[in-house]
Amino acid sequence: MKVLITGVTGQDGSLMADYLLKNTGAEVVGGVRRLSVPNHANIEHLKGNSRFRLVSLDVTDPESISGIVKTEQPDYYINFAANSFVGTSWDMPVNHFQTNTLGVLYSLEAIRKHSPRTRFYSAGSSEQFGDVDYSPQDLNHPFKPRSPYGASKCAAHHLVKVYRESYNLYAVQGILFNHEGVRRGEEFVTRKITKKVAEIKSAMETGQIFEPLTLGNLDSKRDWSDAEDFIIGIWRMLNQDRPKDYVLASNECHTIREFVELSFATLGIRGVWSGSGFNEVYLSSDNVVLVRVNEQFFRPAEVDLLMGDNSAAIRELSWEPKISFRDLVEKMTFSDYNRT
Ligand code: GDP
Repeated sequence: MKVLITGVTGQDGSLMADYLLKNTGAEVVGGVRRLSVPNHANIEHLKGNSRFRLVSLDVTDPESISGIVKTEQPDYYINFAANSFVGTSWDMPVNHFQTNTLGVLYSLEAIRKHSPRTRFYSAGSSEQFGDVDYSPQDLNHPFKPRSPYGASKCAAHHLVKVYRESYNLYAVQGILFNHEGVRRGEEFVTRKITKKVAEIKSAMETGQIFEPLTLGNLDSKRDWSDAEDFIIGIWRMLNQDRPKDYVLASNECHTIREFVELSFATLGIRGVWSGSGFNEVYLSSDNVVLVRVNEQFFRPAEVDLLMGDNSAAIRELSWEPKISFRDLVEKMTFSDYNRT
């Protein structure tokens, strides 16, 4: 069994490679884009594994994808290559569409022409639901994206469905709510918080002066899960009798504010919120500013609340999230603290 994973250096790609190498006999082929300074930290430990190798691939180049699919003839093609940060999608909307939408189209075309038995996974996002009508969101919820990123993933969703129905491909899109972990990119709010909280704790212990954590909207609500739980759900989605899309989520939501409080509390720091709006701060017991709000981190359009309905995945994939919100925050905070 051969599995092609694009975006293998990222959080989800590297976790999927780890999972498959540990739990199956699969040969894992990781697609990587050439960068002048390679970022292979998440897969360094896999180099030397005889069932793991890298190929050069760029999902924005149709020739590159079709060449790899044609030569490799993978049993599964798991596409994690994406521009995954909502915040930058207003600054580079075309790039988001090239990678997140055209990349999916080129992949589907490559499979259709050169390896129609390949099972394809496309990484969808809760950002597709955007300006939500009801909670929790399920597959019947309309797509109302609020960012170029969300729109690019909606378009990819429709393409996957069209190719599945037109060409009888095993192609699915998993609609994944926020999923985090110790390999999460530092621009995402969870990792930004845990990294800075760890730095602040360490500065406090050594008596050094520190800059506060600066954040945008503290009141948006997200449904956060552990990425390792989701990897199992994705693999199950790819191994059903018939291809079908699923929502993966924890079915609960928390504010950014709660995440901040829990992360500080994990390292024994208690604070209080004071002030409001752009002047709101989180103060330590001796009145030192731990968190400040900065307008710069607010988005042109915000998704206020996301909460996913995971019942279909639990029922039909026999999947369940194992790591709680509290466990996730503690794991990420301790990991960053141990790295300081
Ligand atoms: P997203 O849900 O995929 O956009 O994941 P993020 O982790 O980037 O953002 C989650 C939420 O945190 C969004 O509602 C952001 O507006 C909010 N947020 C508040 N402050 C920040 C910040 O400093 N950085 C980021 N990335 N998000 C922030």
